Amino acid sequence: MTWVNHNISKQLVHKARRGHKALALEELTYIHQRSTVRKSQRYERLSWAFHQLRQLIAYKAEAAGIPVLFVDPAHTSRTCPACGHCAQENRPSQSDFLCRQCGFAAHADVVGATNIRRKGLEARGTVNCPMVLLAVLGTA
Ligand SMILES: [Zn+2]
Repeated sequence: MTWVNHNISKQLVHKARRGHKALALEELTYIHQRSTVRKSQRYERLSWAFHQLRQLIAYKAEAAGIPVLFVDPAHTSRTCPACGHCAQENRPSQSDFLCRQCGFAAHADVVGATNIRRKGLEARGTVNCPMVLLAVLGTA
């Protein structure tokens, strides 16, 4: 897992550097607050791997001079990137996103990552620095 995380983080930072992009990540404290699942062994393992990946990305990005923005992930998995409609009903299942207002459909992880990128751009106060699209890693 550590080897995989090293490779993922290295590729992300390389991609960001090549395209002169910034990276946006979910703020850690919020992730803790919203996890309601019982802490199974599997959860603990995934959670540990997720934290390690974040640390590696942040560390490598800083070393390479890539800006990293931490954003509040609230509602990122249930907000429509096309029309902005926010509802729990937009998530018919763990992996699917279907907007009840405009019909936009996509994989839920892509929707989550798109919303995190948008929040990162807002936090940066500019749309001149594009961001690498990061997949949201579930910890449940
Ligand atoms: Zn919509």
